[in-house]
Amino acid sequence: MERDWLSAAALQIAGELQDAGYDGYLVGGCVRDLLLGRRPKDFDITTDASPEEVRRLFRRSRIIGRRFQLVHVRLGREVIEVATYRAKPDGARARGGRGNSAAIAADGRVIDDNAFGTIEQDAARRDFTINSLYYDPRRDCVLDFAGGVRDARKRVLRMIGEPRARFTEDPVRMLRALRFRAKLDLEWERGLPPAIAECRELLASVPPPRLFDETLKMFHHGHARKSWEELRAHGLAATLFPPAFDADGNAPEKLIGMALDNTDERVRHGKPVIAAFLFAVLLWMPFKRELARAARGLPHAEAVWAAGDAVFASQSLRVAVPRRVAVAAMEIWQMQFALEARKPRAVARLLGERRFRAAFDFLLLRARIGEVEAALAEWWEEIQECGEDETRRRIEALRPRRARSASSGGNERRAGRRARHAPAAALNK
Ligand code: ATP
Ligand code: MG
Repeated sequence: MERDWLSAAALQIAGELQDAGYDGYLVGGCVRDLLLGRRPKDFDITTDASPEEVRRLFRRSRIIGRRFQLVHVRLGREVIEVATYRAKPDGARARGGRGNSAAIAADGRVIDDNAFGTIEQDAARRDFTINSLYYDPRRDCVLDFAGGVRDARKRVLRMIGEPRARFTEDPVRMLRALRFRAKLDLEWERGLPPAIAECRELLASVPPPRLFDETLKMFHHGHARKSWEELRAHGLAATLFPPAFDADGNAPEKLIGMALDNTDERVRHGKPVIAAFLFAVLLWMPFKRELARAARGLPHAEAVWAAGDAVFASQSLRVAVPRRVAVAAMEIWQMQFALEARKPRAVARLLGERRFRAAFDFLLLRARIGEVEAALAEWWEEIQECGEDETRRRIEALRPRRARSASSGGNERRAGRRARHAPAAALNK
């Protein structure tokens, strides 16, 4: 295990908990990632101290959450989450879990879900064996109640308990399973794929905002392409994104595949990725179908928004896309028509638009699947590199020849004015 990858703050907090007579262990994803030879991205700590006891122990700490109380402890620039051992909410009282198993807090509030438990109960409520490992930094050893060390060694993803029962308790675990497969390259425990096949419809009962969060975890952490392939292989993609599929159950695989490769590439290079782009890609086909319908009787710009709204309304029944994300995706779509039209008067403005970069990337994808001419995408690619004079010349060259020669002087002056008004940054992007 690469101890250098451990967060100094997490080690110190676990150590101080132990000095005060409590348990203090690193737990969950960070221990799993370390055992599998990957650098963890965040560190969680678990303890038998109550949230109030933890808060009293660390000066810069505060209790967060109502349903599940956690303590955020700040050390230097790091914030580490400290959670008290929990039991499954229903099992706690029956099995006599410790702490406030009566589920009534000191102030009389009913906090039913905050059923504290023993470390064994805490280990049993976790999803996969490799996620149920506790690292003791003082003794430099791993506590394992579910066989996770062996499974990490064999690189097997195994459910704690009976997969169908655990997926029924929380269907999001199916998405977590696919995500860990995609990210960590694990083998399946034999029973998992059939259990997913049986339980996949249960995803429809998960609150749509939670599925949005899980979607981003799958697509924005560098394993988007593999996550999509896993979703497709297990029949979950159509449950998550119903509008993306046509009546025959087909999605635009080529477009989606290229977009997700692109997303993974950006993450690898530390470039920002936005949810709007992902949904613009996933929902482009249904948007176009809807637009063809809405276009009858509505002016184009209105039809674009009407069609976009309809597609996102339908998508949000499953994965709730926040309004600002939907609006940004619709802007990317709307710009496609303007980029295709290349009206001379609109070029400088388009280059300066907030969504230009995303819309241009989207246009590139469309060119690569043959939906628009490669020359069009090249034109937009090159004009971003041109200096002011060359930009003006190329815009001028877009005008029909007759209009150009008839009023070239006037156009020149207007073009000059436009160029000055267009933000320089936009022209040089
Ligand atoms: P990541 O690398 O994505 O952060 P993670 O395993 O740390 O992976 P978190 O969502 O941070 O995932 O959860 C931390 C730990 O909490 C998990 O390792 C697991 O033990 C437990 N856990 C999280 N979600 C669930 C769930 N839905 N059911 C059971 N246990 C869960
Ligand atoms: Mg984590």
